[in-house]
Amino acid sequence: LKYANFFSLPIRPNPPLSAPGLFYVRGQRVVANWGPNVAWPFDLTADETKLGVEGMWEKYIGAWLEGLGDVTAPGWPSDPRLETLDRMSVAEFLRSRGASEGAVALLRVGFLDLVGDGIDSYSALLMLRRFALRRTESLRFSITGGADRLPRAFATTLAARIRYQSPVVRIEPGETSASVVIGRDGQHQRLTADHIVCTIPFSVLKSIDVSPSFSPQKARAVDQLPYTSSTRVYLQFRRKAWTSERPYVTAVTDLPMKWVFEHTASQPGPRGILEAQATGVDGRRVAQLGESDRVQFALSQLQRIFPGLSGDFERGVSKSWDEDPWARGAFAYFRPGQMLSLLPHIVRPEGRVHFAGEHASPWSAWMEGALESGLRAAREVNEAPPAAR
Ligand SMILES: Cc1cc2nc3c(=O)[nH]c(=O)nc-3n(C[C@H](O)[C@H](O)[C@H](O)COP(=O)(O)OP(=O)(O)OC[C@H]3O[C@@H](n4cnc5c(N)ncnc54)[C@H](O)[C@@H]3O)c2cc1C
Repeated sequence: LKYANFFSLPIRPNPPLSAPGLFYVRGQRVVANWGPNVAWPFDLTADETKLGVEGMWEKYIGAWLEGLGDVTAPGWPSDPRLETLDRMSVAEFLRSRGASEGAVALLRVGFLDLVGDGIDSYSALLMLRRFALRRTESLRFSITGGADRLPRAFATTLAARIRYQSPVVRIEPGETSASVVIGRDGQHQRLTADHIVCTIPFSVLKSIDVSPSFSPQKARAVDQLPYTSSTRVYLQFRRKAWTSERPYVTAVTDLPMKWVFEHTASQPGPRGILEAQATGVDGRRVAQLGESDRVQFALSQLQRIFPGLSGDFERGVSKSWDEDPWARGAFAYFRPGQMLSLLPHIVRPEGRVHFAGEHASPWSAWMEGALESGLRAAREVNEAPPAAR
């Protein structure tokens, strides 16, 4: 928010979670909120039905957040008692707290399944950290005109300092200075500085030459940190047939396309664009299709949620973050056991090389994480002992 205001970017609050949304689960359309007494097509216990999704989050997850301590504190998680939570997958954690199979199936839809390869694949401690941070939020905002206006505003302000078309091909850490070698027009150039802040995602960094090598612990973290696969397909329709029901669309599904968003709600004109998101295994499956098959597959999924929609379809385009050579995945996550084994080594500087980026922040998978970790790395540089500078 601070930087959105700094650059005078227009923001608007997102609809609250309590607003009714559209769910397409077990082949049925359900218009509901996360509250109590919804007739979900899942085999819930009477108590779980009465609680609703929010009540179940509170019962099975919320009650455990107090014991986590300050998840934003440097060095977290230092309490060895948290190791048990780290060793469990999210699904194992929910079952161990008494959630029925129906509740596990419902809770994974729309939120818990969007990380890694879903609730069997990632650390329960990571899920708990995400919930703990969510509790600190009062309202979420979107930047009108697109979230990319924020990095563009930074890029415009810093234009004279940014070197485009100059990928780092080698990093040379040192105790009194550090260098990077960049490639440009087929030539290599070495740039040396007192300190370097490396914000390259580890999924990309693991293929970059580092000499002398990072410590074994850092090298292991770079090599092993997994990234969530994400493929999104954007479909344009000549009219927004869905607005007869509600002014905008957010649909949560248990189909391979797990979320549907309309990003054109605030734009004038009759046309609308829906975004269909596939993550994890489904994200990789969709990415294996050719471009027109991706679009047709997404359209066939939307057609199930909104029958008759395909008559208004005009064109589509897709993006796979696994295929992006500068990203190699959407955002970092932790498999069971990795919060304790990898997290302490992600942030730790290597000589004069410091680390920032969403993967090096508690707010991972958010722009907030990129900004927070950038400020933390800048403080590290500023606070380095003068004698060592
Ligand atoms: C599909 C998707 C949707 C998202 N939606 C939201 C959202 O709604 N709200 C939100 O807050 N966050 C969202 N995020 C998360 C947000 O985009 C990230 O958390 C944020 O961009 C991370 O910033 P970063 O600087 O760590 O990494 P990146 O944004 O990935 O930046 C890394 C940079 O390093 C560059 N790079 C890579 N390799 C090299 C190299 N060899 N040499 C030089 N440069 C290199 C890349 O080109 C890139 O510019 C979303 C992410 C994805 C993938």
